[in-house]
Amino acid sequence: MEVDSLFFESFPSSETDQISGEAEVTIDKLGSKMDCIVRFNGAATLPCDRCLGNIQIPLSFDERLVVQLGESTNTEEEIWTLGPECHELDLSQPIFEWMHLHLPSRRLHTSEDQCDPAMTAYLNGGGKPSSDPDGSSDDGGTDENDGIDPRWNALKDLK
Ligand SMILES: [Zn+2]
Repeated sequence: MEVDSLFFESFPSSETDQISGEAEVTIDKLGSKMDCIVRFNGAATLPCDRCLGNIQIPLSFDERLVVQLGESTNTEEEIWTLGPECHELDLSQPIFEWMHLHLPSRRLHTSEDQCDPAMTAYLNGGGKPSSDPDGSSDDGGTDENDGIDPRWNALKDLK
């Protein structure tokens, strides 16, 4: 099964649609159960946490899903049950979830040299390092140098 941006059209809330690759599904029949082994090999394109430039991150995983036949369909449990009305096994939802599960939480260019030079120069020259990976900081403008927001102090008291 091919995964590309078309695949993500069924998942509008996805963090990214920049994952492509191939999912190989092997189904082993074990008595009344089926063992679906999904092997994914591909790559995700995500913004670098440091410079926001795109990086290609290899993404591959092996996952499995056990499916059994039963009286009624239930895909909420760890083991899926397919009712008699089910003639198709749609694995796109679990594959979608697995892909996100296996995305690294830190996404960085392997070395700073590969980062966007303009952004690196800005970060290095801008005094204190930026602490917002969203990159919402802009040059100039107001800075939060007025000490700690009093609401944080209030929160500390709650501990
Ligand atoms: Zn970077």
